[in-house]
Amino acid sequence: MMDTDVVIVGGGLSGLALADELHRKGVDFQLLEARSRFGGRIHAAYIDGAAFDLGPAWFWQGQPRMAAATKRFGFTVFEQYSTGDIVTEDQHGNVQRGAGFASMAGSLRIAGGMTALVDAYVKTVPADRLHLGQAATEISQTDTSVTVRTDKLSISANKIILALPPRIAQTIIFDPPLAAAQSDAMGNVATWMAGQAKFLAIYDKAHWRDAGLSGDGQSRRGPMVEFHDASPQSGGPYAVFGFVGFDANTRANHREEMTQMGTDQLTRLFGTKPRQLILQDWAQDPMTATPADHTSADHPAYGRPSALTNIWNGRIILGSSEMGQSFGGYLEGALEAAQDVGNLLRQG
Ligand SMILES: Cc1cc2nc3c(=O)[nH]c(=O)nc-3n(C[C@H](O)[C@H](O)[C@H](O)COP(=O)(O)OP(=O)(O)OC[C@H]3O[C@@H](n4cnc5c(N)ncnc54)[C@H](O)[C@@H]3O)c2cc1C
Repeated sequence: MMDTDVVIVGGGLSGLALADELHRKGVDFQLLEARSRFGGRIHAAYIDGAAFDLGPAWFWQGQPRMAAATKRFGFTVFEQYSTGDIVTEDQHGNVQRGAGFASMAGSLRIAGGMTALVDAYVKTVPADRLHLGQAATEISQTDTSVTVRTDKLSISANKIILALPPRIAQTIIFDPPLAAAQSDAMGNVATWMAGQAKFLAIYDKAHWRDAGLSGDGQSRRGPMVEFHDASPQSGGPYAVFGFVGFDANTRANHREEMTQMGTDQLTRLFGTKPRQLILQDWAQDPMTATPADHTSADHPAYGRPSALTNIWNGRIILGSSEMGQSFGGYLEGALEAAQDVGNLLRQG
């Protein structure tokens, strides 16, 4: 017995954008999301009513799907704050300020944070199609259907879309097992940014701006290596975020020490201790990263590997950002992958 036509596994941007597309086309579907929230790698801390991105913060000119989505949902788009000097720190903790290139100048942000995009997509789809707290653990096939199971339910469908990083998809039990080449191909696709961690430093005032600093900076001492202003478009609280340079294992074993070091470092670079310091370590999140992601990679070449083009006669289709041919890894890649899956589903 078929319960629905399509099951989407994963409620990140790619899964939600696909849900939106299927709903608009009148296709019957259900979406299963493992976490207790939608958005996946898009995630925010909410402080005094403002959203601070803990995952992606930017999109860029030349990304047509992100441009279309922000226009469709009526978002205010603003440029990354980059006015003023940058700071650099050497390995001994000596800090210098000077005119320099704010490396993310011109990058675009959404007022209300990237989670506004998630919330907007969630609203486009009837709530009874979207299921939180449903981690797919097993997928099986019969002659006529495929079935996905969580610890609470089982749904049969014509097709299952795995809108989650291929390395996470690889951890699902397939019955019968996938061909080794398919399983290996999933394991070989590094999940973009999954090995990274961000410190978010919250301040009551953007005192670095008052001091003529952009909030941009670089450090060879750490724990953070690259800094950017992360304040809301207008009003406070204000924030700087920093990518952490320590490797995933060091981070996991020295969390408290590293947080103290982070506070000291921010005080050295920007002059004031933050009111609050939040660590978001994606490498320790099993819904995003596997141990294979603990060593970070340069931006890999993405797109659908040939070994993953025809799983179980096309009944299983991968659909996370990593499958995006032109913009793989980015938010734009998640929208691209959703569009690509939509096209594959139309082809039957
Ligand atoms: C720190 C960081 C910074 C980034 N910065 C940028 C940026 O500035 N600009 C940019 O364009 N991109 C950036 N990225 C990349 C961007 O976040 C991703 O391209 C995008 O969010 C991927 O969306 P997705 O839906 O394909 O995957 P995901 O967001 O990973 O969604 C997959 C979903 O599947 C769910 N899931 C996992 N396992 C299961 C299961 N077994 N059953 C059911 N559901 C499951 C997860 O919970 C998740 O919700 C950044 C990423 C990180 C981590």
